[in-house]
Amino acid sequence: MAGRYAPSPSGDLHFGNLRTALLAWLFARSEGKQFLMRVEDIDEQRSSKESAESQLADLSALGLDWDGDVLYQSTRYDAYRAALEKLDTYECYCSRRDIQEASRAPHVAPGVYPGTCRELKEEERVEKRATLAAQNRHPAIRLRAQVTSFDFYDRLCGPQTGPVDDFILLRGGQEPGWAYNLAVVVDDAFQGVDQVVRGDDLLDSAARQAYLGSLLGTPAPEYIHVPLVLNAHGQRLAKRDGAVTLKEMLIDAPLHTIFSRLASSLGYEGVNSAPQLLEIFDPTTLSREPFIY
Ligand code: GLU
Repeated sequence: MAGRYAPSPSGDLHFGNLRTALLAWLFARSEGKQFLMRVEDIDEQRSSKESAESQLADLSALGLDWDGDVLYQSTRYDAYRAALEKLDTYECYCSRRDIQEASRAPHVAPGVYPGTCRELKEEERVEKRATLAAQNRHPAIRLRAQVTSFDFYDRLCGPQTGPVDDFILLRGGQEPGWAYNLAVVVDDAFQGVDQVVRGDDLLDSAARQAYLGSLLGTPAPEYIHVPLVLNAHGQRLAKRDGAVTLKEMLIDAPLHTIFSRLASSLGYEGVNSAPQLLEIFDPTTLSREPFIY
C-alpha cells in the first residue's frame, strides 16, 4: 500500500509541482501508506540526472521523505518490453501531421487516434515500414484497444468515464522511446502503488491507464487528481512565470516561509513545516478549485 510522486526530470520543480508533491506525501503519510519516489526519465532528450538530483534535493529540503530507493524509469525498459509483449498491438506509421489531418474528420473526437493504421494489410505495412526505414525512422507501437471509454473512480472528482483510443505504447521516429502511459502503469504495479495523487491535467489519461492496467491484470489504484496552480492569467503555472522554483523563491525568502506559502495554498495558515502540516491535514477539506499563484 503506497502513494508516490513521479516527477519528470526536465528542469526544476515549480510551486505547482511542489504543491502536488506535498499533497501526494500528505495523502500517503496521513493514511499510514508508504510514500515512494519515481523519476520518470523515459524521455531521454529532455531528462537529465542533474535535474533529477536537484528535484529530489528540493523535495527533501521541504521535509518530504520517501521509503526505499528512488526508482528510475530508465532502468525499467525490460519490464516495459515484457508488458508490451503481453498486449495486442500494431505498428503505426503516421506522422503527427497525418494524425492531425485524419482527426479533422467529423466523427473523430479531438485527441483520439483515428485508427488509420489499425486495419492495414500486411503488404501495406511492408511498404510503409520501408518508407519509414528509408528516412531512418521507426514505427510507433499502439495498443489495439477493445473499448472506446473506461470507467474509473477519482476521490476528488467522483466516478469518471474517460476516453480510450489506440494509444501509443512505444513512440516511433528517429529515437523510439517508451510511452508515459505504459511506463506509469507497469511501474505503479511493480512498486505496489495503490494511490495516485497528481495534477488534474492528467485526469484524461487515467481512463487509458486504468484500462491498460485491466489488460495487464493489475487493479487500478485510487486516483486523486488535484487542482493545478494557475498564474495570474489563469494559465497553468510554468517556469517562465518566474520566481516559481524553490531556488528562485529562496532568493528572497527563507525555507519556512516558502513552506508556509505552500501550506497556505492548501488552506492552512501559519504552518511552517511538513511534520506540522501532516498533523492537521484533513483531505476532506481540500479545495476543488485551482490555486492562483
Ligand atoms: N511524470 C509526470 C509529470 O511529471 C507525472 C505522472 C504521474 O504522476 O502519473 O507530470
